[in-house]
Amino acid sequence: MSLDELYKEIILEHYQRPRNRGRLEEPTIATRGHNPLCGDEVELSLLIGDDRIERAAFTGRGCSISQASASMLTEVVTGQPLAAARATASAFRAMMTGDGPPPAANEELAALQGVKRYPVRVKCALLPWTALEEALALYEKRA
Ligand code: ZN
Repeated sequence: MSLDELYKEIILEHYQRPRNRGRLEEPTIATRGHNPLCGDEVELSLLIGDDRIERAAFTGRGCSISQASASMLTEVVTGQPLAAARATASAFRAMMTGDGPPPAANEELAALQGVKRYPVRVKCALLPWTALEEALALYEKRA
């Protein structure tokens, strides 16, 4: 199996069996993202306690890239201290928009870099991460 095929497999697997899909009953914070180019929608809810993301969940619809990216995101940030979650989001953005290496937090995230060849799809991959960055910024303002 080529690396490309492996990456596609990982994305498809997350799309078909999304992790942490749903809404948290009492989230600390929830944000939404919309990508008009593709029609993707993601709603992210986070339970934050002790400066750490205790739980993360998402709902949404759209292309496999946006939904797989959201699924991976919730898996990666669950349990992360806020500073680490912020660093993961920046690293992911740097990978998708430049030459940054895949975030160290989770090797599956590397699968999304295959999307970089399709600039329109980069927005799909980033959508949930933008929602995460917004959520963390909102939380900070509130605190
Ligand atoms: Zn999309």
